Amino acid sequence: MKQSNYFNPTLRDNPADAEIKSHQLLVRAGFIRQNAAGIYSYLPLGKKVLMKIESVVREELNDAGAQELLMPAIQPAELWQETGRWDVYGPELMRLKDRHDRPFALGATHEELITSLVRDELSSYKQMPVILYQVQTKYRDERRPRFGLLRGREFIMKDAYSFHSSEEQLDDAYDLMHETYSKIFTKLGLNFRPVVADSGAMGGKDTEEFMALSSVGEDTIAYSDESDYAANTEMAEVTVEYSKPDESEEALAKGEAETSPDREIHTSLLKVNDELVLVLVRGDHELNEIKVKNLYGTDLVENVKQEIDVKEFDGTIIADNAIKSIVNGSIKGATAYHNVNPERDLSIERFEDLRFIQEGDPSPDGKGKIVFAEGIEIGQVFKLGTKYSEAMGATYLNEGGKAEPIIMGCYGIGISRTLAAIAEQNADENGLNWPMSVTPFHVHLIAINVKNEDQKTLSDRLYDTIRKERYDVLYDDRKERAGVKFKDADLIGVPIRVVVGKKAAEGIVEVKRRDTGESFEVSVDELNSKLQKLFEQLG
Ligand code: ATP
Ligand code: MG
Repeated sequence: MKQSNYFNPTLRDNPADAEIKSHQLLVRAGFIRQNAAGIYSYLPLGKKVLMKIESVVREELNDAGAQELLMPAIQPAELWQETGRWDVYGPELMRLKDRHDRPFALGATHEELITSLVRDELSSYKQMPVILYQVQTKYRDERRPRFGLLRGREFIMKDAYSFHSSEEQLDDAYDLMHETYSKIFTKLGLNFRPVVADSGAMGGKDTEEFMALSSVGEDTIAYSDESDYAANTEMAEVTVEYSKPDESEEALAKGEAETSPDREIHTSLLKVNDELVLVLVRGDHELNEIKVKNLYGTDLVENVKQEIDVKEFDGTIIADNAIKSIVNGSIKGATAYHNVNPERDLSIERFEDLRFIQEGDPSPDGKGKIVFAEGIEIGQVFKLGTKYSEAMGATYLNEGGKAEPIIMGCYGIGISRTLAAIAEQNADENGLNWPMSVTPFHVHLIAINVKNEDQKTLSDRLYDTIRKERYDVLYDDRKERAGVKFKDADLIGVPIRVVVGKKAAEGIVEVKRRDTGESFEVSVDELNSKLQKLFEQLG
C-alpha cells in the first residue's frame, strides 16, 4: 500500500478526552475515530488489525471443532422477557421499536437468541456436544464508556455457546475452550492470566476470566507469588486462621476509646432479600458484599444507611472470621462501645469469610503469599448450566427418551477490547508497536527523499520484490521530510522498517526493528534473506 494516498490521518497531539496510552495512540496514529461516546469507526489500519485478531481467534476455534454462525444484532423483546432479563438487564440494554411499535433490543449478548435457535433444532442427545460461535457487534449502553475501545457502547465480541447432554460433556468443552483461549492470547502476544471469577450468586458454577495484565485495567487480580493461583479479588478466599492474643478480657463499656484498626469492629447494615443483617469486619479490612451475596445465594443485597446499636439490634449478626481475633475491641460512632469481646458480648450467628483479600495474606492454595496486579478482562469462560434452557424450554430427549434441559456453556472474547489491550501492553512513548501476529503491515518501507532518482527507483523496486515474498508492505512514498516520516512510522508501529536513503546508489538500505530499535545496513541482494530471518525471530 502506498502511503501517499492511504486513508491514514495522523494527529500531532493527543485527543483531549483520551486518558490512556492505547486510546491516545490509536487515535493519533489513525487506527480509529470516535463518532459518539463509546462508538468508533475503524479506519483502514484499525480494520486490518481487527481482521488479524479475528483470524487468530477463528483459526483456533475452528481447530477446536467450534462452528461459526452469525446471529442478528436486532433481537425481539419476547426472548428477553422469557428469561426475565428484559427487566433485569436495565438501562445497559439498548431498546428500540419497529414501525408496528413492537419492542426489540440491540444484542448486548446472545444467550436468549441462541437458546431460542437451538430449542427448535437440537432435540436429541445424539446431536451433542456442539459448540457454536460468532464474531459480531454488541451493544451495551455502558454508564461510563471510556478508554477508547476498552469500554465501548458498540463493540466487537466473539461469543461462543456450547450445548450438552451431561455435566461431563460440559466440563470437557469448558476445558477445551480454556485451553483454546490460552493459545489465542499467546498467539496475540499478550501477557495474560486466567483468573477465578465470580459466577454470580444464582449459579455457583465454574467461571474464569482471562486478564491482560496492565496498570490501566479496571479489575484487580490477586495472585500467589509462588504458585499459579490467581483470582479476581472479588472472589479470592481468605484462609487465615485467626487466634486471640493472650490478654485478659475487660468489662464491656459504653463510649469511644482509642484502639488500633485491627481491634476496631466496623458494622454494616445490609438488607439481604427482605431480612436485615448486620455484618462485622475488622477496621483494617474491607467488607466484600459479593461474599455476602454468595453466602445467602442472592443478588438482592442493599446497603442500609442507619446507625445501629449492636447490643440492641434484633436482626441477624454475622461476622468475618477475623473478628474472632479481637480482644477488648472498639466500636465507634453514635453508639460506641469499648472493651468489646465479640464472642462474649455480641450475639453473632456465624463467622464466615466476608472480607476482601489483601496483599500479604496467604494464597488460598497454601502456596506463597498474595500479590495484587491490575488487569483488563479480555475474555471469559462460563459454565451456564441450565439457567437459559430451563427458562426458555430448550430440551432434548436423553437416551431413555426423557426430555431434559440442555446443559450450556458460554465463552466470550472482546475482540475490540483485545485490540486496545495489545496496543496498551506494547506501546512506548513514541507510538504503537504491533506483534507480528496482528500487525497491519509486516514491513514499513520508507523512501527518505522521493525526489532523488536513485532512492525513488530503488524504493519502487523493493516495494515490488518484498511484496512478491508475500509480505504486506506499507510504502512511504510521500513528499515529506525524513523526520515526519520516521515519526509517523514510530507512531504506526509496524515491526520492521526498511529505509532507503543516501546509500541507494550503492544498493545499500537500512533495516530497523520497532521493538528494540536495533538497526543494521544490508545490501539489496541480501535484503529478502535478512527479512526472512527477522520474521522467523519475531514469530
Ligand atoms: P466488564 O466487567 O468489563 O463490563 P463483562 O463481564 O460485562 O465485562 P462479558 O459479558 O463477559 O463482559 O463479555 C465478554 C467480553 O466482552 C469481555 O470479557 C470483554 O472482553 C468484552 N466486553 C464486555 N463489555 C465490553 C465493552 N463495553 N467494550 C468492549 N468490550 C467489552
Ligand atoms: Mg459489563
